[in-house]
Amino acid sequence: MNFLQQDIQYLPGVGPQRKRLLNSELGIHTNEDLLTNFPYKHVDRTHVYVIRDLTAEMPYVQVKGRILSFETFEMGPRKQRLVAHFTDGSGLMDLVWFQGVKYVKRQYDVGVEYIVFGKPMVYQGRINISHPEIEKATDVSMDNLNMQPAYRTTEKMKNSSLTSRQMGKIIQTLLSLTPNVPETLPDFITRRLHLIDRTTALHQIHFPQTPQQLAAAQLRLKFEELFYVQLNILRYASDQRRKYRGYIFKRVGDIFNTFYNEHLPFELTGAQKRVIREIRNDCATGRQMNRLLQGDVGSGKTLVALMTMLISLDNGYQACMMAPTEILATQHLQTLRSLLGDMPVRIELLTSTIKGKKREEVLQGLLDGSVDILVGTHAVIEEAVQFRNLGFAVIDEQHRFGVAQRAKLWSKNQNPPHVLVMTATPIPRTLAMTLYGDLDVSIIDELPPGRKPIQTIHKSQQQETSLYNGIRQQIREGRQVYVVYPLIQESEKMDLQNLEDGYNRLCEVFPEYSISKVHGKMKTAEKDAEMQRFVSGETQILVATTVIEVGVNVPNASVMVIQNAERFGLSQLHQLRGRVGRGADQSYCILVTKDTGKSDAPNQQSDVMKRINIMCDTNDGFRIAEADLKLRGPGDLEGTQQSGIAFDLKIANIAQDGQIVQMARTEAQAIIDNDPECARPEYAIMWRRLRELRKDNINWGAIS
Ligand code: ADP
Ligand code: MG
Repeated sequence: MNFLQQDIQYLPGVGPQRKRLLNSELGIHTNEDLLTNFPYKHVDRTHVYVIRDLTAEMPYVQVKGRILSFETFEMGPRKQRLVAHFTDGSGLMDLVWFQGVKYVKRQYDVGVEYIVFGKPMVYQGRINISHPEIEKATDVSMDNLNMQPAYRTTEKMKNSSLTSRQMGKIIQTLLSLTPNVPETLPDFITRRLHLIDRTTALHQIHFPQTPQQLAAAQLRLKFEELFYVQLNILRYASDQRRKYRGYIFKRVGDIFNTFYNEHLPFELTGAQKRVIREIRNDCATGRQMNRLLQGDVGSGKTLVALMTMLISLDNGYQACMMAPTEILATQHLQTLRSLLGDMPVRIELLTSTIKGKKREEVLQGLLDGSVDILVGTHAVIEEAVQFRNLGFAVIDEQHRFGVAQRAKLWSKNQNPPHVLVMTATPIPRTLAMTLYGDLDVSIIDELPPGRKPIQTIHKSQQQETSLYNGIRQQIREGRQVYVVYPLIQESEKMDLQNLEDGYNRLCEVFPEYSISKVHGKMKTAEKDAEMQRFVSGETQILVATTVIEVGVNVPNASVMVIQNAERFGLSQLHQLRGRVGRGADQSYCILVTKDTGKSDAPNQQSDVMKRINIMCDTNDGFRIAEADLKLRGPGDLEGTQQSGIAFDLKIANIAQDGQIVQMARTEAQAIIDNDPECARPEYAIMWRRLRELRKDNINWGAIS
């Protein structure tokens, strides 16, 4: 067997116990996994800092000293903060833990000399390092490496003394045993782009001698990674194009025209017209359309979806529209039905809660072709759902659907339907290239006329009175108000409690108004009924968790209050804000955060304020998306994990490596163009590598 594919168990220094740990904690099974477990940074372990000199501006540092005492702070139910007061004689600092408190206390002792490693911060005027790496000073032989690799470890690994340093040792051993590894990029690319060879890169990424060596290794490995992501996407898109013919929508007929002339409630915006034209042209070519429609919240994508679905009906094909949530699907159904009025178009809903006889009816209607448009959730792509002739599929809010799910739609027919993917979260270019690299893009860059920009205001929890006054004022003017609370799985109970408390408080403050309450734990029917009360104007205030996040449309609502705004990401805040400002009235978005200074996590403060300030500054979704990508990194961007195309990048960072993404894209495109049949011998090395990667990676496999 190939050395790289060998089980790590047989490496000196690993053995069965560590093997199990590496398997379960980091997903490392083979020598190759271990070799490509790249350090997340390099540190100068020759230099020991003096506590007195530490500042919060310094990167990772190393200090040597003793723990004077431990102190525990209660921070709520079953939440503790452990502080170890630490000194090296020159000054005092705190070591802080928010997790694993018991373990830490057991592991480290007062008075013993330790080497402590981490990022210094300042909290309440004192230097601290939270969750530091700690080793007994006597265990550390200064390896005299000024660029020592630091590896990701978990509490469990540290428990079994599998520290970053130990990882380094194992990898050093592995490198000394590793023969030259096969090259994965062709000569002509590495030479032209001045990339170092793979074997050298793998050595230098772990143990570089100079920053230049490290940079060269990073460039080589990042490029390789991004190049194969691009090659995979483009190969896939090209194969699809060659394999499938697209249905040809020759004409725009009666249904579209009747709707356009007799039912359209308003003039289309220029952008809507342009996009409908782009889609219509695309569907007439005989090539199967795969198009991404980007348009900010409220830009009128639903109407575009409806009108393009009508073109499909005009040409004798069914259409369907998928949404990520039940509420949203239901609302789409209602919107489409009311837009179509008395036109003879049969639209049905399919979600997991539609069962029994009704479900049979819908499925039958899809098969015999009597259902023209199907609206639904994921339920639409289930095996059992078969169409007579699905010609056009719309996926709303794409960030929740992955490439693999899109691909499933294609198996519904002999030929795949045209696919229109709509997203309200504008995606920065480099990310779009990676996530949706196989799609063409249309953009609605114009809001319907008469909209006033939403005013966004930041308030602290202390400013409750002025918040309530503002709300009362708006309701007196006949408007409605959303109040949203975060809901995060891990703290679900507490979040629901927050929402209950908030609801009760509002009932107290506004006895004269009716208030709806909606959260994810409610039965669908109950939820829908409450939503409906708000939509119809029966209730003035809707208190909700993020279940309302996407798509709900109540034009009379003019205030969006977001509680604990510090816990939402930028694009989520932007989405929520988009729920208001849909009518002609001035709308407001109020971001309520905990009072500053009282936060549990002082070091996050600045990031929170950055987000809040961006929100107060701009309504431009593209600017917000760019900022989000920069602040959070793509791994955290909503939905990127589920979105299918190998997103667990090992070394490249889409947010920071935009230029390399572009480079990789250009090279990959050239390869595809030059060798559509995968037949050129000088390219064989790449096609072989791509096959290997597709085989190993579940996500890639799912779409190939
Ligand atoms: P989104 O792009 O966020 O899905 P919607 O399709 O829900 O936006 O549209 C937002 C609101 O704008 C809806 O109330 C819709 O009826 C309205 N709207 C859509 N297009 C136009 C238009 N051309 N002129 C005026 N209002 C429009
Ligand atoms: Mg929408």
